[in-house]
Amino acid sequence: MSPRAVDLVIVGASFAGLICARTAALRGLKTVVIEAKEEPGARIHTTGILVKEAADEVDTPPQFSRAIHGVRLYSPSLRHIDLSSRDYYFLTTDTAGLIRWFADEARRAGADIICGQKVEQATRVEGGVSLPQFNLETRYLVGADGTRSTVAKLFNLGRNERFLTGLEIEYHDLPKADPDLLHCFLDTKLAHGYLAWVAPAPGFFQVGLATNDRVKPDLKAFLAHTENVFGYSAATVKERRSGLIPCGGPVSPFAAPNVLLIGDAAGHVSPLTGGGIRLAFRYGRRAGQLIADHLTRHGPPPGQVLSKEMPGFGKKLLLRKVMDIGPPNWLYDMIIGTAPMSWFARQVYFHRRSETPVKPASEPEP
Ligand SMILES: Cc1cc2nc3c(=O)[nH]c(=O)nc-3n(C[C@H](O)[C@H](O)[C@H](O)COP(=O)(O)OP(=O)(O)OC[C@H]3O[C@@H](n4cnc5c(N)ncnc54)[C@H](O)[C@@H]3O)c2cc1C
Repeated sequence: MSPRAVDLVIVGASFAGLICARTAALRGLKTVVIEAKEEPGARIHTTGILVKEAADEVDTPPQFSRAIHGVRLYSPSLRHIDLSSRDYYFLTTDTAGLIRWFADEARRAGADIICGQKVEQATRVEGGVSLPQFNLETRYLVGADGTRSTVAKLFNLGRNERFLTGLEIEYHDLPKADPDLLHCFLDTKLAHGYLAWVAPAPGFFQVGLATNDRVKPDLKAFLAHTENVFGYSAATVKERRSGLIPCGGPVSPFAAPNVLLIGDAAGHVSPLTGGGIRLAFRYGRRAGQLIADHLTRHGPPPGQVLSKEMPGFGKKLLLRKVMDIGPPNWLYDMIIGTAPMSWFARQVYFHRRSETPVKPASEPEP
């Protein structure tokens, strides 16, 4: 049987791949998405918090999210400050539900989604790429296949080399947690190179931490440390997950003729915050537009355009180095609640939008 000919194959049905698929299909491309898992949204590996810029980038239905306007930032001894902003928010999400919704949107736009089989082979043929496992030939191939991209490997593109490792537990309820705040914990011993968090999501709570490669993440130790504040031992576990977060900046090269990487596969993740969904939305959608222009209207090669639009992450890569060294815990305890620390935290969390005065650091609750 001769192979099915399509315009675009996207490997990976998550944030980047599904937005790209929806955009490309709406612009008239015959689009196929291939997902290794049994369905989009299965066994997700992310906390799934959308920063406001992500929510501005792509419209999503309100039932999958919850707006959080404030952050409670804790030092290692659990002293804390509250930061808030009237005009800025985070959306915590029912991530699995949201991804399923994106998949429905991509299908409605005309994309075909094949689930349950991993792409393992792809070779160049005249005019595009062949995927013999699926009897498909495509004019263009996109790797939206995450941190350890198979597409990057098959086409000799750049690969992520530096990672944070995240662990997370979802609880049905945590009655002791303030549900209007995102709780973040600075602690170089427990979360070396990153943070720990307690996030109120729509209908459940997420508790997690991430560390760099110097320290193995130990979520049990964090739960023991904050048990008195949140009372996990009386709560029921809903799910557990783990995952790698690329933190070395964009990979290079991220494109070759007729092949492009987006999302985590391209290293489109803030090296400082580990947030990748906003960039998956932005460059996923942009890739869909550029590939459609390229294939239907003689537009320039998408990789060429994207290389001029992509962030450099210069400052954030520098701050990643500071976080990797890990400021000592006594220093966090000393500076929590000081004006420079609060200023810095506002830059990171609200991107300078906070006008609300910061409350002074308070002692841990008994
Ligand atoms: C613990 C943790 C917490 C995080 N929290 C946040 C957060 O709160 N906010 C935020 O912005 N970012 C967060 N991130 C980062 C964020 O999850 C990613 O940046 C985002 O998921 C990237 O989306 P993506 O579509 O590029 O890739 P992914 O979401 O990784 O999806 C890749 C998809 O490709 C599929 N796939 C892989 N290989 C193949 C193959 N060979 N064939 C077919 N399919 C394949 C996978 O099954 C998967 O569905 C977190 C990451 C982790 C690990």
